[in-house]
Amino acid sequence: MTNTEELITRRTNAVAQGVGTRGIYAARAQNAELWDVDGKRFIDFAAGIAVNNTGHRHPKLMAAVAQQSEQFTHTCFHVAPYEGYLKLAERLNASTPGSFDKKTMLVTTGAEAVENAVKMARAYTGRSGVIGFSGAFHGRTLLGMALCGKVNPYKKAFGAMPPEVMHAPFPNAMHGVTVEQSIAVLENMLRSSIDPERVAAIIIEPVQGEGGFNIAPPEFLKKLREICDTHGIMLIADEVQAGMARTGKLFAFEHSGVVPDLMVMAKGLAGGFPLSAVTGRAEVVDAAPVGGIGGTYAGNPLSVASANAVFEVIEEEALCERATQIGDMIQSRLKALAERQGMEPVGDVRGLGAMVAFELVTDRESNGPDAPLTGRVIAEAEERGLIILPCGTFGNVVRLLPPLTTPIEQVNEALDILEASIEAAISAG
Ligand code: PMP
Repeated sequence: MTNTEELITRRTNAVAQGVGTRGIYAARAQNAELWDVDGKRFIDFAAGIAVNNTGHRHPKLMAAVAQQSEQFTHTCFHVAPYEGYLKLAERLNASTPGSFDKKTMLVTTGAEAVENAVKMARAYTGRSGVIGFSGAFHGRTLLGMALCGKVNPYKKAFGAMPPEVMHAPFPNAMHGVTVEQSIAVLENMLRSSIDPERVAAIIIEPVQGEGGFNIAPPEFLKKLREICDTHGIMLIADEVQAGMARTGKLFAFEHSGVVPDLMVMAKGLAGGFPLSAVTGRAEVVDAAPVGGIGGTYAGNPLSVASANAVFEVIEEEALCERATQIGDMIQSRLKALAERQGMEPVGDVRGLGAMVAFELVTDRESNGPDAPLTGRVIAEAEERGLIILPCGTFGNVVRLLPPLTTPIEQVNEALDILEASIEAAISAG
């Protein structure tokens, strides 16, 4: 029995099955490489789901955390605040889009940040409705799951959803939903289902993560901004997966020039330590009453130290430029592969910066989803030493989330593995 097999048995017996897991049990990781408990090496193109944008254990992050741990690891910000939190808030206020006065709160997970952004929007507007989009992912808490635009598995077994949470279709040209259609449905919703004056917020991912790396067209975000302005609705950008240099800009919303009222960040923010943030218009953030937001662990000092170092690394190592460079390499390689004879199942190849995905389809006419083939590609890649993840409403999208610090030769190595895996998976089908 391998170490992995033994751990899988123990996991099956001891851990909730609802917590989905893959079969790679980590022993150690450094930058873009990860070794499992049997000593097998992988290139990690999952990056802990877009968390390790600065790679595993970046020396600068490790030093910042080590130094902080010499001082204190937890005081609770509500009890004894600390400067690192203030510094990070100042950084986020200065670096998020919008030239107005901003404020920030820190929490721990993406879902928690989403919840707090909605609470702020509700407090500011005095309204309760929230509109999200089909295919969206915003977390697994009660409101987060309600906002998810996918029933199975996120809402499947969990009872009634909170009221006044609705979904408009996310535009998706490849699958026949135009920007105009999506806006028409949203406007119809505001005529027939909910009074716009009851809507506190519209929340959108600039690039849907779990939903399949669907990029929100800039004209769509502009139209949402107009609708929000017309009705006094808060526009919330969920940058949890797309933010922190991943798409070639610090925040993906910047590609559109549209400025949200509130922005939600997590994942890459602290480069491997649990931390999330809500940054936005000062008056909206401050609408929440004193004591109404926060939490015991919110803005953990070690995570905050790491996040402050992440900002320095992004700048020093030009990680936005790096994201564009790596993303271009991946896209051009995949597009060339998709052109080859026999590679018809490789459908749409898309991405923004180093947030790249491709669909696996039954045929190019219908673009029907091929989830089994997607599973085979991922398994073949794992076998050959590359960690990649599925996504998409129909489970037929492979997403690539390399650390932005991945050495170029490892990007090429990963792409060689990926190409061989796709070929093997297709010919086994
Ligand atoms: N929003 C988006 C866009 C996400 O991708 C995720 C996590 N995949 C979340 C929110 C929830 O984050 P967390 O898992 O940290 O609660």
